[in-house]
Amino acid sequence: MNTSYSTALVTGASSGIGKATALALAQQGLAVVAVARRADALADLAAAGCAVLPLDVTDHERMAALVEDVAPDVVVNNAGIARMGNLGGCMTGDITDQLSVNVSAVMEILRVAIPIMRAKSRGHIVNVSSIAAHHVFGGMPVYAATKAAVAALTDQLRLEVAGTGIRVTEIIPGRVETEIFANALGDAEEARQRFFDGYDALRPQDVAEAIAYAVTAPPHVNVTRLEIMPTHQVPGGLSFHRDGA
Ligand code: NDP
Repeated sequence: MNTSYSTALVTGASSGIGKATALALAQQGLAVVAVARRADALADLAAAGCAVLPLDVTDHERMAALVEDVAPDVVVNNAGIARMGNLGGCMTGDITDQLSVNVSAVMEILRVAIPIMRAKSRGHIVNVSSIAAHHVFGGMPVYAATKAAVAALTDQLRLEVAGTGIRVTEIIPGRVETEIFANALGDAEEARQRFFDGYDALRPQDVAEAIAYAVTAPPHVNVTRLEIMPTHQVPGGLSFHRDGA
């Protein structure tokens, strides 16, 4: 198996985890192609030597052409959006937008990338899901379902490419201090108060370093999934209190 990767495509690279990952992979010597919609927010990556492309991942035709053109060894499917609110009463657009960015775009990119990786007998697919895919939280059921789809797809892909030399990694972050909550709420101050003030959160670099670890692991090692939490974030468990207990 040959894992001497030379090119990486990172989606959602204009902020947060994607930006940190593009920088981390560039520091590892990979030629990084960074994609997101906001051209101005990609400027730092361009200055750091990444090729930047303002592109919407839901533009399947242009994304397919880009993947054909770049023929990436590493694809980091990181672009993602979240909407707050329960299913009953949410807007149709909330459902279709999250499905389009978080699920369909990932499949469309990989539909084109996998045959290219197969032909080279090397490649690494890194899909960023979420702890929402693996633990039950209230308030964001559509988002959680899209991330569960990414987790299921990632497991399926490992079977699909078994024996080809292509590695497949699921990255499962807990709470990370990024713009995603402000974008979800439409209010950065409210997002800071609700999600970050008084809570422990990961930094985007923490997740980027985990991705770099998976990508640079020795050829015989496939880091299949990595769950990364802030130390004080512990989902699950069964605790209850009785009067007088
Ligand atoms: P950010 O909001 O900081 O980053 C999201 C990125 O996705 C931005 O670069 C944004 O760029 C890009 N993006 C959104 N929609 C599109 C689109 N249609 N086409 C191209 N790019 C798009 O959030 P995070 O860094 O937190 O999110 C990265 C991933 O991590 C997501 O998949 C998210 O679900 C996941 N995650 C985040 C957690 C957290 O606590 N922050 C926890 C678990 C998982 P632009 O707007 O310029 O297009």
